[in-house]
Amino acid sequence: MNIALIAHDEKKELMVQFCIAYCGILSRNTLCATGTTGKIISEATGLAIQKFLSGSQGGSQQISARIACNEIDMLLFFRDPLNSKPNEPNDINLLRLCDMHNIPVATNIATAEVLIHGLERGDLDWRNILK
Ligand code: PGA
Repeated sequence: MNIALIAHDEKKELMVQFCIAYCGILSRNTLCATGTTGKIISEATGLAIQKFLSGSQGGSQQISARIACNEIDMLLFFRDPLNSKPNEPNDINLLRLCDMHNIPVATNIATAEVLIHGLERGDLDWRNILK
């Protein structure tokens, strides 16, 4: 499965902890991320991650484009709910595209854990059948 990872600055440490905890499952999948998120995860875990541009430079739009082409099977997007971001409209569009294409998406760690366990159990195998 192709998994996209994005974390706002205030959630990056949490994303790293999540990826350390689920390194085994993540390593059996294909990962991509916005620039800084990908860099810190790969440094902390050694996971192979395709890094797009940083979020502020258009990285989330690069991920949006792949979602629009049905090339992403799951999005884990740890958002900061407290501070508004300059590229918020792009983030909203990213989530809209997930809804458009029925892509499983988590915007916080609690849902991300449910999705990652579901992935491991085969709950998302229907994505392979669709493709
Ligand atoms: P980043 O982008 O991983 O390059 O920091 C994420 C974001 O949009 O904040």
